Amino acid sequence: MFSFLDAMTLPIETQPAVTGPLDLDLIRKYSIPGPRYTSYPPATKFTADLGALELERAIGEDNADASSPISLYFHLPFCETRCWFCGCNTVITLRRESACDYLDDLAREVKLTAARMNRQRPVTQVHFGGGTPTFFPPDELRRLGALIWETFPNRAPDCEFSVEIDPRRLTADHIVALREIGANRASLGVQDTDPRVQLAVHRIQPQAVNRQAFAWLRENGFGSINVDLIFGLPLQTPASFARTVDDVLTLEPDRLSVFSYAHVPWIKPAQKIFDDREQLPGAEEKLAMFAVAHERLTAAGFVDIGLDHFARPDDSMAVAQRAGTLHRNFQGYSTQAGASLYGFGISSISNTPDTYRQNLKSLPEWRAALDAGRLPIERGLRLNAEDTRRRTIIMRLMCDRRLDFQGLSRETGVDFEATYAKELAGLDDLKTDGLLRAVPGGIEVTATGIPLLRVIAMRFDGTLAPGALQHSRTI
Ligand code: SF4
Repeated sequence: MFSFLDAMTLPIETQPAVTGPLDLDLIRKYSIPGPRYTSYPPATKFTADLGALELERAIGEDNADASSPISLYFHLPFCETRCWFCGCNTVITLRRESACDYLDDLAREVKLTAARMNRQRPVTQVHFGGGTPTFFPPDELRRLGALIWETFPNRAPDCEFSVEIDPRRLTADHIVALREIGANRASLGVQDTDPRVQLAVHRIQPQAVNRQAFAWLRENGFGSINVDLIFGLPLQTPASFARTVDDVLTLEPDRLSVFSYAHVPWIKPAQKIFDDREQLPGAEEKLAMFAVAHERLTAAGFVDIGLDHFARPDDSMAVAQRAGTLHRNFQGYSTQAGASLYGFGISSISNTPDTYRQNLKSLPEWRAALDAGRLPIERGLRLNAEDTRRRTIIMRLMCDRRLDFQGLSRETGVDFEATYAKELAGLDDLKTDGLLRAVPGGIEVTATGIPLLRVIAMRFDGTLAPGALQHSRTI
């Protein structure tokens, strides 16, 4: 079987160049709607027909090996106000007691799930996502930390514990509480620093607030800080977005995520206001914004990890990519491989090696399931052998940016070149256009192809209906 050790033995100098100029014509040519491959098959393929999936049995099977690691995700959905671009599953409220009630319910969900688990498995990763995790008062965060570590006492020494932070809803006490319970990484939502854009998206966030958040995090020993930016928002221009990138660089983050705004008002009605005001930039302007961010970040020494992620060359994400040990999960890229994910809270997603399951998205329905004493699952998927093989291929492509044919044959248990001959033959246009190149024993993505990783991965996706438009655009 192929293992991550095999990947580590690939000579680092054969990894493709980590930066390069963007070829905008190629991006125009190939940028079609596609999944982000935080999972394969993508979450759009999950089914609500849960009977045959036997997801509870899957939890039992997953826990047969006491030494295999687990990753814990907690969805903390509350926000004081709604940012009009937001695509997350949120609950907008000013009622602080909502957080306390929710935490009581989370405790019930953790107890129900843990009863089916081996609680001694090492925890290698914890993530608080939102919503706004710091909507919770510091003592409630401490209560959540106690719940986690009393239930799952085997914290791995190098456990990565990350928290999504809204700098507008943050105090020094929050940071102290988060650090006390083990948090060591943070991801700050900044999105755009231009006051006009902030007004247009209903999110006023002065740069002084971002600076204060960074200072508190650094003072308290948070080792890796990420900043989220979004391009394609109302009133943004390439010039204004360049200023945003420059502003953020003065904060000296370790990583940046530069996301393309997904305009889906039929799913997120708050976004309709952008149509009414006609302030959204066009596709060409959006592309120019991505180009300007890419140029500035790579010029500042950041490595283009792929899929909107940039990291300092000495950050663990960039190091893992060079070593061939990068992984991908529902939070994006990760340096922690091989863990089963246990998600808690509304809409959270979990996975065992061959299943995915997603919780109910509505707070009353999630609560009602817990009242009835059952796991609050809404939909899921069981992977067959073909899904598992294709997942391996797509994840290696997204993380290593190369396919090692012999290694893939070992890992998937089939002759890779013979089994996927049709897919390999279908890559000729990408090779001709310089997105991919043949190397001894495999293929690798060129620097030109990195911004189009998703497009390359889609060639190995067995679930895509031709012309399906249910995903966000690749850029
Ligand atoms: S604070 Fe974050 S999660 Fe809450 S509405 Fe704004 S973008 Fe969405």
